[in-house]
Amino acid sequence: MTQKLVIASRNNHKIEEMRRILEQGGLDIELVGTAKFPNLPDVEETGATFAANALLKARAVSEFTGLPTVGDDSGLCVDALNGMPGILSARWSGTHGNDRANLELILAQISQVPIDRRGASFVCAAAYVHPDGTEFVVEGQMPGTLIDAPRGENGFGYDPIFVPHGHEVTSAEMTSELKDSISHRGKALASLTIALKD
Ligand code: IMP
Repeated sequence: MTQKLVIASRNNHKIEEMRRILEQGGLDIELVGTAKFPNLPDVEETGATFAANALLKARAVSEFTGLPTVGDDSGLCVDALNGMPGILSARWSGTHGNDRANLELILAQISQVPIDRRGASFVCAAAYVHPDGTEFVVEGQMPGTLIDAPRGENGFGYDPIFVPHGHEVTSAEMTSELKDSISHRGKALASLTIALKD
């Protein structure tokens, strides 16, 4: 019987990316979004690291659904801001999930930073939790550079101001296939797929 795997996220962009990447990995599993569980309690992201938050989400959702679950936590770590916004990426401007306001605030904060100190990395931790007690966390990173003004319509969040290393275009100007092949989430989920196959 095909095994169900819950994706513990309400962010449709992220669910879509995770679904695409996990399906490409060729696992014989049925991916289920949290929309199937309307009474799911909100999980507070109170952890101090991406890994801790990914585990918090995966544990809570697995406990509620009784199903194996993948939780992820991700964000942008800006060198010139000492690694911030990091785990606060989704709520950097104060309102959770206001991508535009978050991006504008980062642009304002780095406006005086010269181009050679514009380094940043997207980071993703993906946690797998099975009701039998099995747990593990994997991580992926995508290093790059921040630019002065948004470019591109694809992706989400900070993609329009992020040029991945080795590329000329922002991750919002890339096809989803190209972004998946180099992204923090792509790398974390590729490791997760290998671990699950084992
Ligand atoms: P999470 O839902 O707590 O993992 O928040 C992740 C936040 O980090 C998002 O709201 C975005 O602001 C940012 N983020 C994570 N991954 C990406 C990405 O692939 N592109 C752009 N922004 C991202």
